[in-house]
Amino acid sequence: MDTPLSIAVIGSGPSGCYIAQSLRRSFPQSEITIYDRLASPYGLVRYGVAPDHQSTKSIQSQFARLFEREDVRFAGNIEVGRDISLDQLRNAHNIVVLAAGLPEDRTVGVPGENLPEVYRAGRLTRLFNAHPLEQTGVPNLGKSVAIIGGGNVSIDVLRMLIKQPEDFVNSDIDDAVLADYVRAPAGRIDFICRSTITNAPSDPVMLSELGRIRGVRFSCSDPIDVAEDAPRAALARAKAVAGLLEIDPGTETRVEVALHFGWAPVSINGDGHVRNVELRSVNDVRPNLHLDADSVVTAVGFDYDSGDWHGLGALKANLETGVMDLGLYRTGWIKRGSRGTIAENRSCAKAVAEEIVAGVDTLKQQTKPGYGGLPEEVRARAIDYSAWKRVDSAETDAAPADRSRRKFPSHEHMVAIAHNNFVQTSAGPGAN
Ligand SMILES: Cc1cc2nc3c(=O)[nH]c(=O)nc-3n(C[C@H](O)[C@H](O)[C@H](O)COP(=O)(O)OP(=O)(O)OC[C@H]3O[C@@H](n4cnc5c(N)ncnc54)[C@H](O)[C@@H]3O)c2cc1C
Repeated sequence: MDTPLSIAVIGSGPSGCYIAQSLRRSFPQSEITIYDRLASPYGLVRYGVAPDHQSTKSIQSQFARLFEREDVRFAGNIEVGRDISLDQLRNAHNIVVLAAGLPEDRTVGVPGENLPEVYRAGRLTRLFNAHPLEQTGVPNLGKSVAIIGGGNVSIDVLRMLIKQPEDFVNSDIDDAVLADYVRAPAGRIDFICRSTITNAPSDPVMLSELGRIRGVRFSCSDPIDVAEDAPRAALARAKAVAGLLEIDPGTETRVEVALHFGWAPVSINGDGHVRNVELRSVNDVRPNLHLDADSVVTAVGFDYDSGDWHGLGALKANLETGVMDLGLYRTGWIKRGSRGTIAENRSCAKAVAEEIVAGVDTLKQQTKPGYGGLPEEVRARAIDYSAWKRVDSAETDAAPADRSRRKFPSHEHMVAIAHNNFVQTSAGPGAN
């Protein structure tokens, strides 16, 4: 009888969960372990998707079935490249799939980007989501903020910055971060999208949603008409923007949001501190715009941090194939680049699983020890699914009445709860 295949998936975000789902179907007898450096599963579903989008986050319960019913092991608190090398994992498992996502915000590539008040969207979205490895503190954004980037992450950031605490009912926002921000919230936000409304990467529904927030006055520096035969999304986007412009909050205006479509950043200017942003029109000849700003948030996609993934060299996005080497594959954002919704990782994972199935006969010939072959000290630090559920329960128990959960913003604290080593202090759960 064949020894069962041993499969390692690095990363428990959507792509890691989807590939484990597919591989479980193809190899019912296999041993599948999903490793994650965090104490919790689900990657950006937990730490990227905005805290006020709980219906999107609810896909976690679908992924949980892997661990609860489909005999997939969760091994959290194990960082590949720090706690164990990629080679060690490859020696232990027949198949290793990288599903580690993309950790670093891409740079815009304009002069002035290194000024101290230029912040990356990933930092803000991690802070609002209580990411345990984001210990940078809430930046002082000032009264006037320019957001560079016109995709859904930019809209998430914009929405976080224009909402008030009472708008976050049933969310799992980090209330300490929110309180820090609302002490001195932005009064004007410029939203800068290089593409025109027709081609903008934003979801029209996300734009419309902005109109439900009270006290916000919208303006737009560009014509919002799109051709009648434009794609349906473009028409919907134009309609959504037109709807925003009709809103008149009158004397209740708290914040002004100026939308700029078809404008590319030329430079971020200031003498040691951000003072303004210069924009050029992309499609027509108009004088450059100079927008005053106290800070800039850039949201132009994500990338590999050092350009070298744990000795594998620079991993360029590859849309064609998930195969990297014998028994080594990749899926999700680390394969395709930072584009696409959660659901798109499903078809990506399915295609990679098919490649694995096609090459499995060669891989089967090697006998590998599997998870049990990893060094004792690595397995001792692992947080398995039942240990994660202790953190999960502690978070929901700690939630105030109007929040769905209170995430703990400290990795050590989560690990202590998971390993049953947590001693209640006067600071209470969640204290750093
Ligand atoms: C701010 C933001 C908001 C978003 N909102 C939405 C939304 O509302 N709706 C939607 O459909 N899509 C949304 N997306 C897109 C969606 O999150 C991605 O498509 C998806 O998460 C990509 O999945 P992934 O598994 O490739 O990466 P990730 O979700 O990033 O998962 C990667 C996992 O790998 C782990 N990891 C990384 N390095 C290591 C290592 N060395 N060792 C062990 N583990 C490691 C990480 O901890 C993480 O858990 C959003 C993205 C962002 C950035």
